[in-house]
Amino acid sequence: MLKKIKKLILYIIFLIIFVRCFEVVFNSRKFIQTSSEQNEKILYKEFNYGDYTNIKLLHTATGEVEEIPLDIYLYGVVAGEMPADFEMEALKAQAIVARTYTIFKIMNGSKHKEQNADICDSSLCCQAWISKENRLARWEKDKRDSNWQKIENSVNSTIGKVILYDGQPINAFFHSNSRRIYRITN
Ligand SMILES: [Zn+2]
Repeated sequence: MLKKIKKLILYIIFLIIFVRCFEVVFNSRKFIQTSSEQNEKILYKEFNYGDYTNIKLLHTATGEVEEIPLDIYLYGVVAGEMPADFEMEALKAQAIVARTYTIFKIMNGSKHKEQNADICDSSLCCQAWISKENRLARWEKDKRDSNWQKIENSVNSTIGKVILYDGQPINAFFHSNSRRIYRITN
């Protein structure tokens, strides 16, 4: 009888330890999640992305300057910089980097001040941009709608997101060398 009671007590102690361990793990996960959510909120609060809602885009072929909403401009950048059949997460990362790079350029003095523009459409100077019309024309007909929708989604689902350091946008350089190497070797 005494042996059975001892066993039962041992079982109860074991069960209590197990439940406590589970609680600790669960709570620490909750804490990590909450703190990263809070960080995100703080970052957005510190940076007023709304000041850069519109940008002046210089079309290098014509010399014309067009004022367009930043996120509409980014459709043309993502479409110009990355193939639409890349993974959605890669396109979203490209959208955030391009948004950050654009805002940084405007905040830190555009190369195109004399032309009354914030940024141009050349990848050799600022960053690539392609009009929707030209982009669609280069895709196969049956992929045009879905490809463009994917590009728009990558920008729309990251609206307001920029990469900050100390509350300021970073100079978010990016390159497409890997893609070029792929083309050369294939
Ligand atoms: Zn430029």
